[in-house]
Amino acid sequence: HQAKFGQRQTRRYEAVDEEAGPRRLALAADVARAVVRGELEVHYQPQAGTRDRQVRAFEALLRWQHPVWGRVPPDEFIPLAERTGVIGGLTDYVLRSALQDLARWREQGRDLSVAVNVSARSLGDDGFVHLVDQALTQAAVPSEALVLEITESSLMADADRALKVLRGLVDLGVTLSVDDFGTGYSSLAQLRRLPVSEVKVDRSFVQHLESSRADAAVVRAVTQMARALGLRVVAEGVESDQAWQVLEALDCDLVQGWALARPMPGPDVRQWLEEH
Ligand code: C2E
Ligand code: MG
Ligand code: MG
Ligand code: MG
Repeated sequence: HQAKFGQRQTRRYEAVDEEAGPRRLALAADVARAVVRGELEVHYQPQAGTRDRQVRAFEALLRWQHPVWGRVPPDEFIPLAERTGVIGGLTDYVLRSALQDLARWREQGRDLSVAVNVSARSLGDDGFVHLVDQALTQAAVPSEALVLEITESSLMADADRALKVLRGLVDLGVTLSVDDFGTGYSSLAQLRRLPVSEVKVDRSFVQHLESSRADAAVVRAVTQMARALGLRVVAEGVESDQAWQVLEALDCDLVQGWALARPMPGPDVRQWLEEH
């Protein structure tokens, strides 16, 4: 029986999870309290025009300083927060922090945007659109200056349900971006059905761009098809000037990566902008 099989699989999965050790269990329990304990911080990584090198946006990336385990990478704690159902609180925290910081940077007359990563969970939550609306109003930031990054896999998981929330976000004027593009099973043709306006090519295709013809071919294909569909293309994980040059030749719109800057704490952004 289908349902029973599913249940058994879930239980086996949890058992594996428990075997994963004390660190994992501790983190799963502690992540729920990280916000109120003030252990979280938002860092920002700039995105610039590939050709003109002008800074256009910053991606907000969550950092967790755990009192015992030290710095825990988001690739480890975000999935735990999703599984334990506390990701909503983290998203709320990042969204509000990022919009408040953005409001301050824009006061200097710079036309900047901020990109916030959104978990698949939020796309199944009708209240999410209202939450975004409220955060924008509170920070007094125009909705056009907010980009929400959604991973390819979360879009395809329950596309029909997500579509309603995505349309609500687009109605607010928010820009939607597909993160880690190329790592899932969707195609750009499938993206046509979704109200997204940006694609972020996954860094696994970008990191070795200057030496891999295969990677260059993938990025070229994604860029050309995205262009045909009227989507903006961002390359993440741009580590070298050589990779940057290839992206310029491929007509990619924006670059993000160590070649420009590593993610930095919010208070450092102002000075970085001045020096840039
Ligand atoms: P992502 O959204 O794809 O973010 C890009 C990741 O690539 C970041 O890792 C960033 O530090 C890293 N990166 C940027 N430039 C380079 C580069 O040139 N070379 C290399 N090797 N890496 C580069 P980070 O900060 O560790 O975040 C990992 C992932 O965790 C993110 O991937 C995102 O999926 C998730 N994440 C981070 N913050 C949040 C958040 O606030 N909410 C949610 N839902 N997920 C988040
Ligand atoms: Mg992202
Ligand atoms: Mg990404
Ligand atoms: Mg990624």
